[in-house]
Amino acid sequence: MTISNFSLHTGETGPLIQASTPDRLRVPIYGMTPILAEGDQVLAGTRIALSNNEDRGDMHAPLAGTIKAVYHDYMHIEVTGEERTEPLVPCSESGNALRKWLRDMGINVARLNRTRTLIINGVPPEPGISIYEPLLRDYRKVLEIGLDTIQRIVEPIRIFMVVAEGNQTNAFANCTVKHVAPIYPKGLDPLVIKTVTGQEVLPGMLPKNGTILSVKELYFIGRVMESGRPVSETVMTLGTQNHLVRIGTPVGWLTKELGVKVQPGDRLVLGGAMRGMTAVNLEQGVDKQTNGLTLFRKEEGLETTDNFCLGCGECERHCPSRLMPGMISRCAEFKQFKRAERFHIHSCIECGLCGYWCTAQRPLLQYIRLAKYELALLAGAELPPDVPINERDKKGDAPC
Ligand code: SF4
Ligand code: SF4
Repeated sequence: MTISNFSLHTGETGPLIQASTPDRLRVPIYGMTPILAEGDQVLAGTRIALSNNEDRGDMHAPLAGTIKAVYHDYMHIEVTGEERTEPLVPCSESGNALRKWLRDMGINVARLNRTRTLIINGVPPEPGISIYEPLLRDYRKVLEIGLDTIQRIVEPIRIFMVVAEGNQTNAFANCTVKHVAPIYPKGLDPLVIKTVTGQEVLPGMLPKNGTILSVKELYFIGRVMESGRPVSETVMTLGTQNHLVRIGTPVGWLTKELGVKVQPGDRLVLGGAMRGMTAVNLEQGVDKQTNGLTLFRKEEGLETTDNFCLGCGECERHCPSRLMPGMISRCAEFKQFKRAERFHIHSCIECGLCGYWCTAQRPLLQYIRLAKYELALLAGAELPPDVPINERDKKGDAPC
């Protein structure tokens, strides 16, 4: 894998393309409680799972169909092909009532709280992921509705729209445009927050007196307000074009639609080359957060290694969080997870640059994510229920 200059200039100019309707959906419901069972019929927009987190949005059926199987992490829906939908649910509330309504419609409202500074992040998150460009260019009306809605909850005094240098986006009303250098990882939230406020925050945390949302979240909120329907689609970069894709669409359906044949040994990644997560199998469904698909061919030499760390320090030289990824990865490798905290693992923004540059080709980001996962379990997070694969086999839901 070679990303020659980490440029965030995507060169994207085309409109959003509507992906075709799949004949089945694997709707992710991890961290949710399913409220329907196998055999139940759903309409497009029927609520199928309640979020276990008070801020994360609930999940709704993106299309009409029949529920074929329910697991702890996804629901398998056979699509009937009919255009049957739940009735519209418009909202004219403000403040907390509006916040709750958005959550019920599938929006993650964790960052929608009253505060003084609102930052809208429109910088491409990774090289090759260009979803914000068509939204900023062609869906301005939807984004304006989204911004107006957010203002009714957040009531900010200052609003910043942050885009990459070279992006010609005009400011929205009451909104100041700021530019950052179009170089990865400048578009990741903690670095955008630092650009605007000067504050350094841990990943997932918010600045003092401020909040941050992406252009995609703005779009989700605008669509929900405009249509009165819950979130049912995500925006993804597939190849060089951007698509609207139903949540739960199997990644294998998308590669087939693109005419791409995935060969044994290839790796299909949900997201971009630097931060994406490898799909478990071709039946894995896309989630609200999925912003692209990246295919690595077997010949590109991305085999997992257990090479020793050489102590060369190359990873440290490239880490934007000023960490020692080599040391953190060694802690994870030898199951010294608590020790990784001494090397400030929680400051890692998961940019993947350390692994990209590692002389020994160690899977550094994967080690770091493993250690964070184990630390979360040690801190009391719940282990997902163990669903035997043979149970899935019986229902034809086994991994490919
Ligand atoms: S992924 Fe690696 S380079 Fe990026 S912040 Fe974390 S430790 Fe640093
Ligand atoms: S770049 Fe790789 S080999 Fe070098 S210190 Fe970092 S982890 Fe170790």
